[in-house]
Amino acid sequence: MCNCIKEMLSKTREKFPGCEKVSFDNMELLSGKIFSDVSVTMPGAKKPRTFHILHTFCPICGKRYEELPAAPAEDANEPKKDM
Ligand SMILES: [Zn+2]
Repeated sequence: MCNCIKEMLSKTREKFPGCEKVSFDNMELLSGKIFSDVSVTMPGAKKPRTFHILHTFCPICGKRYEELPAAPAEDANEPKKDM
């Protein structure tokens, strides 16, 4: 995992001396990954539905976030060898 958010918050704090709080809003708290919001408005809906898309690569430095173990593609449906 890169240090981009931490560095960006630090630089922002330097740019605005005396500020009370600096925060990066589009960051998932558990993983520390950056996400983008996507909004969908259906016909007749008063409000759009908004959901997050978690980025695979850091949008600031372009490096891939730490690799997670690959999920088994067809584990449950894989035919057994002794059948
Ligand atoms: Zn980065």
